[in-house]
Amino acid sequence: MIQVDTGKCPEIVRPPVAARGWATRLTEGKTCSEPGTRHHAGLARSKLLLLLLLLTTGLDAAAAALQLVGATMGTRYSLSVMNPTLSANELQAGVDALLEDINNAMSTWRQESELSRLNQTRHTGWLPLSPALHQVLTAAAVVSGQTGGAFDVTVGPVVNLWGFGPQARVPVPPPADALAEARARVGYHQLNLVDRPPRVRKTRPDLYIDLSAIAKGYAVDRVAAWLADQGHTDFMVEIGGEIVVRGHGEAGRPWQIGVAWPVQNSPAVERVLSLSDRALATSGDYQRYFEFEGKRYTHEIDPVTGRTIEHALAAVTVLHASCMYADAYATGLLVLGPTRGPALARDLGLTALFLIADGASFRAVTTGEFPN
Ligand code: AMP
Ligand code: MG
Repeated sequence: MIQVDTGKCPEIVRPPVAARGWATRLTEGKTCSEPGTRHHAGLARSKLLLLLLLLTTGLDAAAAALQLVGATMGTRYSLSVMNPTLSANELQAGVDALLEDINNAMSTWRQESELSRLNQTRHTGWLPLSPALHQVLTAAAVVSGQTGGAFDVTVGPVVNLWGFGPQARVPVPPPADALAEARARVGYHQLNLVDRPPRVRKTRPDLYIDLSAIAKGYAVDRVAAWLADQGHTDFMVEIGGEIVVRGHGEAGRPWQIGVAWPVQNSPAVERVLSLSDRALATSGDYQRYFEFEGKRYTHEIDPVTGRTIEHALAAVTVLHASCMYADAYATGLLVLGPTRGPALARDLGLTALFLIADGASFRAVTTGEFPN
């Protein structure tokens, strides 16, 4: 996801970890709002030229929105806040503290996080859960059920085996026996939840949960709620491409959010969305991958096969009221592929954009009210 805001200061910021493509800020997004023809092979190039043009011409320096960037969850976050009620330092400290709490609950990169402790324990009885982790695991269970397990946070052992987890691995496809072993540990039904009080039970001792496909969206929702609590009505929050916008950006215009061209590090946009009061999330096969013997292996895993996805669907963007759900749906729909993904999105009434490889370019399929 590329954010195209109406700030006056153009810059391209590369995230500290290349989990996503480029995040790009543009001034005067008007020209950019033309959707263009998505079906031509030369489109990426022409969009790139358009973008470069916008970056190099007619841009002045003052920005009315307060803009902040920081690092979290192995990627970067950014905020644009209109008419801030707090100083930049206060905003950053507040957001960093909130994200720190969320990481302490949900990160598999932190050995002491609540989630890591749950992953480490062999206990198969009921365990108390923080409300935050309970909320995310509950949403994950809902999306797992709806997607028939295409989204499944218990896919963690397989993710790790493919080298996309916290432990760095030599990027080669894993041997079949190790894969079969890891896959046997996967299954969202093996995680039970109850509400009052929030509790969890692993029905097999070696169940291992990876929230990378949903926690960023949850964190964006939490930051947005915190900003609203501080009296803000017009802002944009983004973590690694998952976004919430509220109210309006500069000059009272809706926020301008660009959908990334689904090619790693491409600064091009597929289209620009004019949004207020929405969340959106994107999953793509181009965001993290390794190549081995000429073949690409992406970080998006089909929990049913235990293999990295291999189909023509390159990216899915979901618009939703909740960024947590948008994040989870985007992953699940991407795993389902170019036919089953759009079909399920229609069944569930989801508003989504599917970018499907078509020769040298990409074909767009939309569901629900997804804007052109
Ligand atoms: P996202 O970029 O939101 O699609 O999240 C991708 C990350 O979620 C990967 O790097 C894995 O850590 C994890 N993951 C991969 N495949 C799945 C899946 N099918 N269901 C849930 N999480 C997944
Ligand atoms: Mg996701």
